[in-house]
Amino acid sequence: MKQLGVELGGHLMHELSIASRIVEVAGDHCRDAGAVRAVAITLRIGRLSCVHEDALRFSFGLVSEGTPLAGAELRIIHVPPTIWCGPCGREVELPSLQKFACPICGTPSGDIRAGRELDLESIELADERSTVTEDAIR
Ligand SMILES: [Zn+2]
Repeated sequence: MKQLGVELGGHLMHELSIASRIVEVAGDHCRDAGAVRAVAITLRIGRLSCVHEDALRFSFGLVSEGTPLAGAELRIIHVPPTIWCGPCGREVELPSLQKFACPICGTPSGDIRAGRELDLESIELADERSTVTEDAIR
């Protein structure tokens, strides 16, 4: 597992361009590591990022074809929206996206601290030896 922490783009980016960016960034890391392919990619996606998960998975399947990312599992960590509440003096998680107000004291707040993420968290590369084993079995 390689920790990356790469930010992929703004929250209004279309899923297809996001998928292309994932394939580009993760593909570079595969090549740098000398890996034949990646088996899994972990993304951190905020609930406020406006990314449609199904559309992203579909797009990833399309753009990863013929790349080291083809067939890799897409793991998605959903980041809940969090705002800063002045009266409470701490960050609070929003129970819904309908109302940007503290769920504890009800104070409205537009100070968003989390939930807009769109990051490539990590990439799991295939062990080259496992590829050799597969060849040997055939
Ligand atoms: Zn509060």
